[in-house]
Amino acid sequence: INRQVINFGAGPAKLPPSVLLETQKELIDYKGLGISVLEMSHRSSDFTKILNTTEVLLRELLDVPQNYKVLFLQGGGSGQFSGVPLNLIGLKEAKCADYIVTGAWSAKAAKEAEKYGKVNIVHPKLGSYTEIPDPSSWNLNPEASYVYYCANETVHGVEFQFVPNVEEAVLVCDMSSNFLSRPIDISKFGVIFAGAQKNIGCAGVTVVIVREDLLGHAVKECPTILDYKIQAGNASLYNTPPCFSIYVMGLVLEWIKNNGGAASMEKLSILKSEMIYNVIDQSNGLFVCPVEKSCRSRMNIPFRIGSAKGDNVLEKQFLEKAVQLGMLSLKGHRSVGGIRASLYNAVTIEEVQKLVDFMIDFKETHQ
Ligand code: PMP
Repeated sequence: INRQVINFGAGPAKLPPSVLLETQKELIDYKGLGISVLEMSHRSSDFTKILNTTEVLLRELLDVPQNYKVLFLQGGGSGQFSGVPLNLIGLKEAKCADYIVTGAWSAKAAKEAEKYGKVNIVHPKLGSYTEIPDPSSWNLNPEASYVYYCANETVHGVEFQFVPNVEEAVLVCDMSSNFLSRPIDISKFGVIFAGAQKNIGCAGVTVVIVREDLLGHAVKECPTILDYKIQAGNASLYNTPPCFSIYVMGLVLEWIKNNGGAASMEKLSILKSEMIYNVIDQSNGLFVCPVEKSCRSRMNIPFRIGSAKGDNVLEKQFLEKAVQLGMLSLKGHRSVGGIRASLYNAVTIEEVQKLVDFMIDFKETHQ
C-alpha cells in the first residue's frame, strides 16, 4: 500500500498495511471457502479456528498464565467500566472499590462504578491530570473488593511506568491504549481489559483477561453478556461475538509476533516517543507537554503550542499545515484542545520522523 497520509489518530487508529491487504484479499473468499468471515457462522469450525488461533497468539505474546481466561467481548472499554464492578464488587462484603484516577478514562470508570457500590478515590482529587500521585500517599481500603487504575490515559497522556504494588488486593487495569506496546507480568493482575481499536485491531472487540478464581462472583443484576463466568464457560460464544473484529485482531497479533513481539513493540515505542518529546523539550517553550516527565505516555503525546490561551492561532496553523502535509488526526481531544500525537504500534519510525521534521520546521518559522 502506498499511502499519501500518516494517521496519528488516538483510536480507531492505524492498522499495519499488511493486515489491511490480507483483509482485502480474504474479504470476499476466506481461504477458498467461497464466503467471507463477515458471512460465516460463529459456530462453524472455520470461525472456531480463527477464535482459537487469536487466543493462542495473545497468550503467547503476553505469556498469559494457565490460570487466566481470555475473553473476547463487546461493549468496548466503556462496557468494562460496568463489567468490572458488576463482576467484582461483590468479592467482599463492604461492596466498595479503590480507584486511582489519573485522567478522563479512569474518572469515567470510577463514576460508572458508583452505580454498583462505594467508590474510594485513594488520593486527593487532582487539579489537572498531569501526574500520578505518589503511591506512598495512596489510602487503600483493606475492605475494597479491588483496586482499579488506567495504565495509559489516552486523552491526558499520562502513563504508568510501573505496576502498582497493592499486595494481596485484586488489581484491575484498563490497558485499552497501551495494550501490547510492552511486555506485562499478567500474574500481578486480577483483571486486565483493552478495547482493540488502538494497538491490536479495529473497533468492536474488547479483550478481557481474568484470573480464574475471580469468576462466579457477579452481582445477580449483572447482564449475562457481561458475566465473566458465563462468557468464560462458553469460550466467548455465549452469543454472537464480534467475529470480523476478532479475525482482524488475529491478523494484527500475527503481525506483532512477526515483528518481534511485545518486547520489540516496547523498544520502538520508547524510540518513537522520545523523538517527539525531544523536539518538545528542545523547543524553548514553543511546544509544551504539561505531563510530568516520569509518567509521560509513549502512546499519546499531548502538547500545546505557544501560550495556548483560548483559541490558539499557532495551534490552528499547525493543524492546518499538518493536514496539508498529509498528517491526520493530530488535534487534541475535544475536552482538552491542543495537539495530540498518537504513536501506536503500527505507526512507523519513518512516519514519526516526518512529524519531527515538521515540528522543527514549524519551530524555526515561528520562534
Ligand atoms: N479506556 C481508555 C484508556 C480509552 O482510551 C478508551 C477509548 N478511547 C476507553 C476506555 C473507552 O473505550 P470504548 O470507546 O471502546 O468504550
